[in-house]
Amino acid sequence: MSDLQPSPQCPFCQPENLAIVARSRNFFVIIDKTPVTPGHSLIIPYRHIADALELSPDEITEVWELVQKMRQKLLAEDPAISGFNLGFNSGVDAGQTIFHVHIHLIPRRYGDVEKPRGGVRGVIPARQNY
Ligand SMILES: [Zn+2]
Repeated sequence: MSDLQPSPQCPFCQPENLAIVARSRNFFVIIDKTPVTPGHSLIIPYRHIADALELSPDEITEVWELVQKMRQKLLAEDPAISGFNLGFNSGVDAGQTIFHVHIHLIPRRYGDVEKPRGGVRGVIPARQNY
């Protein structure tokens, strides 16, 4: 089961210790402490649940609204942002390291990488370009 009790070792179970930049009823947003790009945000549920694929339909609706709100906030703060990558890692083999849902919203800017084609396909670098 992925819905565990809140853990003192879980960095996302103590939101009072985090710099929250946006929130909704059941989710909050922080800036990633090692951002892939400036503004790289994490959308996190208050409840301790490991797998984003196990969010409820109501939570999915709410988290999508918060993603859209955060997108608008980032665009307003930085007009150089010209795209986004959105995603999460579900399971160790997919690269998940913190087992409390956190959805990455990664702002992209023209020229931030030489060849952006393929985007999230880059999780398997050899398969990004097709
Ligand atoms: Zn947690």
